[in-house]
Amino acid sequence: MSVVTYTLAKCQKCMKCLRVCPVEAITMKDERVRINKSRCINCGKCIDSCVHQGLQAKGSTLAELEYYDLKIALVPSALLAAASTVSQIEELFGTIKSLGFDEVVDLSPYDGAIANELYGMIADQKEPYLISSFCPVVNRLIEVKYPMLLEYMVPPYRSAELASRRIREETAKLNQKVGIFLLCECIAKLPTSKYPYGDTSSEIDHALSIVDLFPRISKEMGNHRDHVDPSPDGLKLASSAHFTAKGYESHILKADGLEKVQLALDLAEFGQLKGRHYLHLANCINGCVGGNLLWGNPFEATQHVSEHLKTVRGTNAQVVFEASEESLDEVNERKSIQERILEYARVNAQLEQLPGYDCGACGFASCRMMAEEIAAGRATLENCRIRNHEVKS
Ligand code: SF4
Ligand code: SF4
Repeated sequence: MSVVTYTLAKCQKCMKCLRVCPVEAITMKDERVRINKSRCINCGKCIDSCVHQGLQAKGSTLAELEYYDLKIALVPSALLAAASTVSQIEELFGTIKSLGFDEVVDLSPYDGAIANELYGMIADQKEPYLISSFCPVVNRLIEVKYPMLLEYMVPPYRSAELASRRIREETAKLNQKVGIFLLCECIAKLPTSKYPYGDTSSEIDHALSIVDLFPRISKEMGNHRDHVDPSPDGLKLASSAHFTAKGYESHILKADGLEKVQLALDLAEFGQLKGRHYLHLANCINGCVGGNLLWGNPFEATQHVSEHLKTVRGTNAQVVFEASEESLDEVNERKSIQERILEYARVNAQLEQLPGYDCGACGFASCRMMAEEIAAGRATLENCRIRNHEVKS
């Protein structure tokens, strides 16, 4: 499900967003941009490309706090990398609490537990390899463009869900309305509380964009403090430069940024990554620490993680990982391989009748996209102006 919203009044119809979308989820029809919500992978490229602010990603707001008796904020490990020292991390947690929360939960011990589980899986893995599933953009990209690789994906464990389930258990006996708010470091995580990848339901009530909170956080920073004991393993999971599994360093392929991720997946699809046990893939530069809703920059954040790792000694959360294969199967079976092959053949049959210029005159970013629309019955060959012209002349 796409989190991108469109404002017609701001749109200058420049079609930049159409060109940058890596999965051709944007079309221009009837003088307005249309986003194919089920095709969008929430990478944020269109938002970055639109200088007119015609496209945006919105999460919940702090106004939602008033509907709950007990308000809990979940802080992703990546946000810890925005602080330069552990003392500053504690100030950050205290400041977030001061925005109206009763408790602020550090997700790094849960990420640490996931990293530990992953170390074991990497050690046990033989050919071909496992593919990480912690980046929602990569997950959706694989679903949309590389469905043959779905079977290699690590079960979709999420630290925010693990922590939320524990909070629900611990507060079940309280006669209070408990609101769980996830602070999101990237736009792709904003819809995961409503539409979690692989999971059938979510315990999170609201997802907040960290960048929306920044003005209030920066104003209050330095006036509050809350004790935090970050997990080194959790920090490593959020930072591509630091993630590794001891003894298997040369068996891990790490790729960050959409272009590199796509290259890795292309190679994986053609069986050219022999000898790898694990592909660690992230849309954001340097991993989640480079999240597109964080302040600072990915290079500085990676440096901060290096500094934190010299001092932090927090333990990982005790988590029982239930096999979520059932839920992953649901994702895999949204379309069977046979269905996908038939669909591919139908689209190719239409594509052969189009000129192949990818000119965008029809409002679609490429002829393939147009062919997909024709195959789905939402457009016809007559919608192609170039073809009409060629047929007439
Ligand atoms: S980039 Fe922005 S202004 Fe240009 S077509 Fe897309 S939404 Fe409209
Ligand atoms: S967020 Fe990414 S996938 Fe979605 S419409 Fe924008 S560019 Fe395309």
